Amino acid sequence: MEYDHILIRYGELALKGKNRKSFVEKLQQNIRHKLQEFENVKVKRTQGRMFVLLNGHDPHEVLEKCKNIFGIHSFSLAIKVENDLEKIKEAALYALKNGENIKTFKVTVKRIDKSFPIRSQELNQILGGHLLSNTEDYTVDVHHPDIDVKVEIRQEATYITSSIIRGSGGLPVGTSGKTLLLLSGGIDSPVAGYLAMKRGVEIEAIHFHSPPFTSDRAKQKVIDLAEKLTSYGSKINVHVVPFTKLQQKIFQETPDNYGMTVMRRMMLRISERVCQKEGILSMTTGENLGQVASQTMTSMYTINEVTNYPILRPLITMDKDEIIEISKKIDTFDISIRPYEDCCTIFVPKAPKTKPKRDRVNYYESNYDYEELIQEAIDGIEVIEISEKKRAEDVFEGLF
Ligand code: ATP
Ligand code: MG
Repeated sequence: MEYDHILIRYGELALKGKNRKSFVEKLQQNIRHKLQEFENVKVKRTQGRMFVLLNGHDPHEVLEKCKNIFGIHSFSLAIKVENDLEKIKEAALYALKNGENIKTFKVTVKRIDKSFPIRSQELNQILGGHLLSNTEDYTVDVHHPDIDVKVEIRQEATYITSSIIRGSGGLPVGTSGKTLLLLSGGIDSPVAGYLAMKRGVEIEAIHFHSPPFTSDRAKQKVIDLAEKLTSYGSKINVHVVPFTKLQQKIFQETPDNYGMTVMRRMMLRISERVCQKEGILSMTTGENLGQVASQTMTSMYTINEVTNYPILRPLITMDKDEIIEISKKIDTFDISIRPYEDCCTIFVPKAPKTKPKRDRVNYYESNYDYEELIQEAIDGIEVIEISEKKRAEDVFEGLF
């Protein structure tokens, strides 16, 4: 006997009305996609529930993959047996013995199929007695047990589950449209991307690259960050924009303290074109109120003037230490702190304006024709498709 199913709970409260069906279908599709490398593993849906059928696979390996899937509230490992008392006893005993650091337990029976001949209360006692007489060192604690062996008798079969493992929460990626993530090599933007994905948003990324001032290693950093993010969704296209010429022109034409503001506006203008081309309805940045000069209220107001697209700023109210905590959790922190320069750190003026005015910046921009340079940058975009990280052995095989 062993765990042969993973029961998936998806927080029904968040799902309302018509959305519900498409959410559930998307979730099932996302789980299937994530588990496709496991041959014979199946993902099934019954009323209000989803099950992964392991078909002999190690449950823990499969579970690890599922932990990054948004839309799942919790999991339990489960055993499916016939509606037969002896089989149920055996499975309950297995569930108890497989728990880690367990001293106390209780049994909770739910009899959904009323044609099963033993009532819940009675079956509770039978099973409790069976577990006690077949083990040592365990005691019953109905209020705060270390493990709750749950027995659910349904028409088609009985499911035995024990501990509840937390999932990532959120909504299934792909149920809330798509956003264009402005992805620098810093700490913030990957976290912003992760949080957008958590609300069900699919992402594409755009990165402004200024060779030779920014190196290939800086670009690699962005690719590595995007790759980390794929583990929470699926493949991510990264649009790498050659930004050098435009950026040099900006800093040639603009007084030092407004350079940053103009540069940000150009980034948004280019991002908007990419959104239009790709049918994407919003942008996402790692901006955070008050962190640096370009992220004051006045600055955001002035920068935002160039686009009507919604800009998601998931980090806007967070403290830096909260952002860092997430970046460590999602494993992007170590990549983000690699020391290579990005285009902003190179051109950043010593004293950027903290209250840049719209009329000032419009005046500076009117002194030259940036349209052509924008078009040139867009024409030069390289789209890199980042797929999910392959397992080491797959990559290894590919080398020979
Ligand atoms: P991050 O840690 O994400 O780099 P930051 O705190 O350094 O953010 P800024 O440098 O002011 O803040 O950048 C604000 C936002 O602008 C970033 O979070 C990112 O979304 C976007 N951005 C900055 N530089 C680039 C770039 N080279 N390519 C794409 N987006 C960028
Ligand atoms: Mg940065």
